[in-house]
Amino acid sequence: MERWTDTDTVGGGTRCTFEWCTTAHGATVDPADEDHRSEGFGWVGRVRDGRSSGPGFETDIEVGVLRRFDDSAVWIVIETGAGISLALSPRAARTLGHRLLDDPDVRSACESLDSVD
Ligand SMILES: [Zn+2]
Repeated sequence: MERWTDTDTVGGGTRCTFEWCTTAHGATVDPADEDHRSEGFGWVGRVRDGRSSGPGFETDIEVGVLRRFDDSAVWIVIETGAGISLALSPRAARTLGHRLLDDPDVRSACESLDSVD
């Protein structure tokens, strides 16, 4: 179901009616600018590619909602300033959230003084 309106304009573009979308649609000619994106939530944290070793490095981490212009569903995206990103279906993201909170091994590792910052 498309929920567009062409009656609201923001920043020179058309305001999307997905309540969470902050994209000013139509403001540029780049198709990627037509993706629906939420404002997201960001913070600075230590990351590394899961296949690498070492202490990693601090960078921006952001979580938000994305629905590309040709998608039929939304994705929950975790992106870093290091070019590492992961898109999860909402169901997979919900499971991840529960696992982070409920898995005793993960919870213990997150509370460990032995962990990196
Ligand atoms: Zn939108």
